[in-house]
Amino acid sequence: MIESDPSAVLAVALPSLLRQNMPARTRNAIEEHVDMDGELEVLHEDRVQGSRFVYKLKAFGLDYSLNFKKNPPTHLNSGTRVRVRGVRVNTTLALDSAASVQAMAAIAPNTFGEQRTLVILVNFRNNTSQPYNVGYATNLFNSTSNFFLENSYGQTFLSTTMLDWKTIDMDALSSNCDYNLIASKADTAATSAGVTLSNFRRKVYAFLSASDCGWWGLGSVGGNPSRASINGSLQLRVAGHEMGHNLELWHSHSLDCGAVVLGGTCAVGEYGDTVDILGATANHYNALPAPLWTIGKEQVAIRPKLSLFAGAARRHMTGARRGIQFVNGKIFVR
Ligand SMILES: [Zn+2]
Repeated sequence: MIESDPSAVLAVALPSLLRQNMPARTRNAIEEHVDMDGELEVLHEDRVQGSRFVYKLKAFGLDYSLNFKKNPPTHLNSGTRVRVRGVRVNTTLALDSAASVQAMAAIAPNTFGEQRTLVILVNFRNNTSQPYNVGYATNLFNSTSNFFLENSYGQTFLSTTMLDWKTIDMDALSSNCDYNLIASKADTAATSAGVTLSNFRRKVYAFLSASDCGWWGLGSVGGNPSRASINGSLQLRVAGHEMGHNLELWHSHSLDCGAVVLGGTCAVGEYGDTVDILGATANHYNALPAPLWTIGKEQVAIRPKLSLFAGAARRHMTGARRGIQFVNGKIFVR
């Protein structure tokens, strides 16, 4: 119930004093108001319909799922030390909103230079087919590295260790899309093959299509190590997208406001940016991620009027600059 309707759980949770006075066996099955410290993990499941962010708290050696009544946090990355306030039943928490999550300590982003990446190709004990070979996968991650180089103006690249197909001890279609278990078993297989997992800041699990997952890719937003899972077809579009999440990037949306430029009833397209791999196509990250890397930033002294904007933008779009950003009423050319 917490996952589907956290607001209902928040509304009916018993006061702490009443709960304390119950027998222990009863008490454990009843929701509890808690403050908990731990490490946040933010994941995104990418699918055409029903894509969603998943929030977890790692504490006491367990994963607690965090379910928000409204407005979940969009400013915190995986690995952030947090204190959360909510109502707990077993390992599931209902929370009100982003305000229920207090950041205690952030981890430093690492978006520069060599990104040591482990890629494990995974199939299942009831389906050991290999839809592509290790050469194809190696070339794909070389392309992904080049994609990073292009986006970062030559500052970031992948150093990839590719592990050929490993068969893990679970069935493809009865896994209930337990991507944590798939990753854990793949890690074990990698260790058995002599790989030292702690050498890698980024891990990618490319597995044979498990149709009960429903998504194409899943990526942690940030994280050390970050992780990405690719379900089925291995393409730049999904690898660059999920590893974009790993670089702490969120989605690139669109606004459709009908006949007006901006209004109060605009429809948001989750993947609406048609020229961005964090949107709908395999093109470069847009200008907003530029602060990830070091490039020139220049404030342009023009008013944000469309007629002036176009001309000024053209004059300043020289050299490596390729984007326009509005910040607090000012325009930046990046
Ligand atoms: Zn995504």
